[in-house]
Amino acid sequence: MNIHEYQGKDVLRGFGVPVAKGIPAFSVDEAVKAATTLGGPVWVVKAQIHAGGRGKAGGVKVVKSIDDVKKEATRILGSTLVTHQTGPKGKQVNRLYVEEGSAIDREFYLSMLVDRGTARIAIVVSTEGGMDIEKVAHDTPDKIVTISIDPTANICPHHVRRVSKALGLDADLQKQMGPMLTGLYRAFTETDMSLLEINPLVVTKDRKLLCLDAKVGFDDNALFRHPEIAKLRDETEEDEKEIEASKYDLNYVALDGSIGCMVNGAGLAMATMDIIKLYGMEPANFLDVGGSASKEKVAAAFNIITSDPKVKGILVNIFGGIMKCDVIAEGVVAAVKETGLKVPLVVRLEGTNVALGKKIIAESKLNVVSADDLDDAAQKIVAAVKKAA
Ligand code: GDP
Ligand code: MN
Repeated sequence: MNIHEYQGKDVLRGFGVPVAKGIPAFSVDEAVKAATTLGGPVWVVKAQIHAGGRGKAGGVKVVKSIDDVKKEATRILGSTLVTHQTGPKGKQVNRLYVEEGSAIDREFYLSMLVDRGTARIAIVVSTEGGMDIEKVAHDTPDKIVTISIDPTANICPHHVRRVSKALGLDADLQKQMGPMLTGLYRAFTETDMSLLEINPLVVTKDRKLLCLDAKVGFDDNALFRHPEIAKLRDETEEDEKEIEASKYDLNYVALDGSIGCMVNGAGLAMATMDIIKLYGMEPANFLDVGGSASKEKVAAAFNIITSDPKVKGILVNIFGGIMKCDVIAEGVVAAVKETGLKVPLVVRLEGTNVALGKKIIAESKLNVVSADDLDDAAQKIVAAVKKAA
């Protein structure tokens, strides 16, 4: 789960990490009130969406009068920001953050993430902050320094020295980096974050380290331990289909392709996506219906797939173990009866109760192409979509 910048900064504040003063605003009036409370003389009006690149897209403005706060708030609130992370459709801005302006001397990059390779939390820093870190990683990878943290030792003085050296901090700034790094690391581990990205981390003209941006994501599987963080969820920022899927406890991720997939088991789902690509098309989603899905859950999953206008064909690929093929068949038939079927459907069933599953589909008179194995199924759905186009 991702949260907004202002929420992330609140979390960091709770761990003693220095961030600028700021107040969220849901209307222009609230933005003006926030600016008056903060007092100025410089403010930053920031669009709050779950995507980076806001600065370049006009969603972050440094202003020097309350009138300009009002002007920028009016312009940004309700507008659609298109950044390199939102996709071409962009994201509508429904919240603002009005922050005390900071005089920046230097901008750095600092992030923490779970590094599966080392099974540790990694700190990634670079002197090239503020701009696209992806570009820095691509063009000048030597300017990015990665440090991994031993979970039994946490942040130690040598980590602070290495980070400070990588960023070229003098003794005075290094003294500030110690508690900052400890605070960030505690925030990360104690709230079960999966990503914490500060870009930029700045040195102000009066020589203070300050987190000027915060991109924070949490491990969904640990959210039950943090009800106060679960409350920060903003569903308007999430894919509607993914929200619907989460209500049914389905493992669903929306993708950009045109072939909807309904599969049981994450490994089989990945293999199904790979083989669709192999035959020249792209999957519209990842979907693992799980091992113990009911007919209702399968029907919900099927409806989520068919409600996606990008879907030009559907591939159901079930290897029945604990999951029974007849339950899948009943769910698919129920969903189609309810909402109809406007695109080609290829079904490959194998395993527990396969004969019964095939019988249910045959008797439903649905326009289904059946397939014998994964390879056959992928070729058939790709051919059917091409033919329908
Ligand atoms: P992003 O573009 O979505 O990553 O949004 P950021 O919060 O990182 O803001 C973009 C840029 O705006 C930063 O890299 C800074 O250069 C600039 N910026 C943000 N806050 C301030 C501020 O208080 N003072 C000044 N001078 N610039 C700021
Ligand atoms: Mn940023």
